[in-house]
Amino acid sequence: MTAERFVKKPRTLTDLRADLAAGRTKATDLAAAYYERIEKLNPRLNIFLSLTKERALAQAARIDAIAAKGDPLPPLAGIPVGIKDVLVTQGAPSTAGSKILQGYRPPYDCTAVARLEAAGAVLLGKTNCDEFAMGSSNENSAYGPVRNPVDPERVPGGSSGGSAAAVASNLAVATLGTDTGGSIRQPASFCGVVGVLPTYGRVSRYGLIAFASSLDRIGPLASNVRDAATMLGVIAGHDPSDATSSPAPVPDYAAESDTPAAGLRIGVPAEYFGEGLDPEVRAAVEKGIAALEVAGCTIKPISLPHTKYAVPTYYLVATAEASANLARFDGVRYGYRSPNSATLSDMYSHSRDEGFGAEVKRRIFLGTYALSAGYYDAYYLKAQQVRRILADEFLRAFAEVDAIVTPTSPFPAFKLGEKTGDPLAMYLADIYTVTASLAGICGVSVPCGATKAGLPVGMQVLARHFGEGTAFRVARAVEAAGI
Ligand code: GLN
Repeated sequence: MTAERFVKKPRTLTDLRADLAAGRTKATDLAAAYYERIEKLNPRLNIFLSLTKERALAQAARIDAIAAKGDPLPPLAGIPVGIKDVLVTQGAPSTAGSKILQGYRPPYDCTAVARLEAAGAVLLGKTNCDEFAMGSSNENSAYGPVRNPVDPERVPGGSSGGSAAAVASNLAVATLGTDTGGSIRQPASFCGVVGVLPTYGRVSRYGLIAFASSLDRIGPLASNVRDAATMLGVIAGHDPSDATSSPAPVPDYAAESDTPAAGLRIGVPAEYFGEGLDPEVRAAVEKGIAALEVAGCTIKPISLPHTKYAVPTYYLVATAEASANLARFDGVRYGYRSPNSATLSDMYSHSRDEGFGAEVKRRIFLGTYALSAGYYDAYYLKAQQVRRILADEFLRAFAEVDAIVTPTSPFPAFKLGEKTGDPLAMYLADIYTVTASLAGICGVSVPCGATKAGLPVGMQVLARHFGEGTAFRVARAVEAAGI
């Protein structure tokens, strides 16, 4: 494998901050070094879709000025970050991985991005992703696939593949991704980094180009659990611009992640260890569970019997919402407009036909069908009912355990092109991640060993609504075991 040239662990936030505060590093030099690395590796890995150099260097200069005066540095001072291209950035390309938004420069910043910058982070650029975040391999990007830094012949996972690969190859210290059915957790597991699915409502979605609004969440990816917890602390919290954001106070997640996991009750659901699970992934996750026991956790077998219905339920809810959300891309207000139209109605249909890729169209068809008058009760309504059952099942489980651990994905990173011919196989691979998405609960994917071929395995740690601190404690124990 050619991995070594691409895989590199970023320095931790704590170390970088200490260096900046002591004057050993300058934010401007750090940003310049990251751009140099991006210029070298991006042509091979296709991680960044666009760079925001001027903005980054201006911010870095501001941080250097603060450091030079000896004033206290904000929590993410000088930290180079990458942002998934579904999050809008003022005046900078924000394509959502789609041709239909080529050339679109939004007039405002996504709240999560604004919060990172207010905390001192340096925005390097926008990361590649599946078109409108629809996919599990990054092969649905209109701008070409991202390659996995661990093995460039393999996918990085998706849809936040660029954000995961950026951290794995140290083209950014941390990144933001979005997760609707697994899009932070699964690429984190494929690339060997930490990815966080915050509780629904924990992080404002203002400025997120919507895929499925009852499922979409923004969360961080980082090289270690503590950095991910620090990032979440910065972006979490109520935002008057997003009515779905929660007013619940934001705890000190980094401090919570420092608390040992001893005494926590960990549920292991049988349904996540059955047919279709790669034996090497199973073995790695079982080692992770054994490490938790050594760390003083109590392991409890549990059952989540409706898990088998999660994939069809997710693909009905997500596509139904997508079909409504994507109606706004009509060639009129922004983005691509087909030049080949004689009438207004032609203009709509040609713009959409030429602007959207195959997977996005498939989802719009599926979703429109599920919502249509004759089928609404049979599909969409039924899916909503099953969703409730799945959520209740988790709530019952969390009466008995503090966290639930599972594999993040049934298999490690697969080869580019291996699954593109079979959309159903691609959908079925989301089996372990879509359940938490439907239930609104939170989770973390943490690296948990590797296969014999060196492909990273991720363990998913789920916790109840607003239980991020607990998920971080468990993930930290797995990380510390160094499996
Ligand atoms: N792979 C899932 C899908 O294709 C999840 C995507 C996501 O979380 N954005 O819908």
